[in-house]
Amino acid sequence: MTRTVYVNGSYLPETEATVSIFDRGFLFADGVYEVTSVLGGKLIDFDGHAKRLERSLSELEMAMPMDSDALLEVHRELVRLNEIDEGLIYLQITRGSDGDRDFVYPAADTPPTIVLFTQAKPGLAQAPAAQKGIKVVSIEDQRWGRRDIKTVQLLYPSMGKMMAKAAGADDAWMIEDGTVTEGTSNNAYIVKGNTIITRQLSNDILHGITRAAVLRFAREAQMTVEERPFTIEEAQDADEAFITSASTFVMPVVEIDGKVLGAGAPGGVSSRLREIYLEESLKSAI
Ligand code: PMP
Repeated sequence: MTRTVYVNGSYLPETEATVSIFDRGFLFADGVYEVTSVLGGKLIDFDGHAKRLERSLSELEMAMPMDSDALLEVHRELVRLNEIDEGLIYLQITRGSDGDRDFVYPAADTPPTIVLFTQAKPGLAQAPAAQKGIKVVSIEDQRWGRRDIKTVQLLYPSMGKMMAKAAGADDAWMIEDGTVTEGTSNNAYIVKGNTIITRQLSNDILHGITRAAVLRFAREAQMTVEERPFTIEEAQDADEAFITSASTFVMPVVEIDGKVLGAGAPGGVSSRLREIYLEESLKSAI
């Protein structure tokens, strides 16, 4: 089945969808994105993603090109047209183009470029990696200083993923001034006893939508949450570790820089949080 994508108001076969070579997303990575997961044909935490999108745009002096109800309709229409049961919806909004290359932003009334497409991921919720856990390695965080804005400049995270693969691991945790910021495309956590530790929100990390939900569920389940930085040594010494993101939900980490955590299998807290997250998010999926 040819995938139907959305570009600037039209639903088109992916082979017919085009964007200008002068688009500032292409030339300057001048754009933001969101990834929303789909389970059972429904969107997980759409409101959270729409709110963060609005914030990312506003930090870059861009307006929401359509309100969140209209955005929801586009998401739902793509799910319907592409018959997505489990998968992801990728959304990207760039500053568009006024037909040339210039560092200065084009006039504020220049139309943005809006692209959405689906990715079918059968078995997303039952990912085998969640049973086994993943391995991470640490790398230096060499990204820019506004990681709270979800921009499409993902080259360093992509390089980080390649460094992880070259080291025989699944992902990399990035280190700045001696502490872990986050994973290449996820937030990072360690667990000590009944306490979950994760870096506090700031411009240093992306404010994960899954992070917000998981911390809420953890507190509701009487777990203690400490929002503070931690070192790799502390992580290697922890009882458990995990990551969160819209596409991996809660994913246990069983090895950090070659040091196996606990029994080398997903820990009880991580597994329980994954279960709670999936159960609760499905209840409020729209
Ligand atoms: N941090 C980074 C750097 C990310 O790229 C992502 C996923 N886009 C996350 C954290 C997790 O955010 P979310 O839970 O909203 O997917």
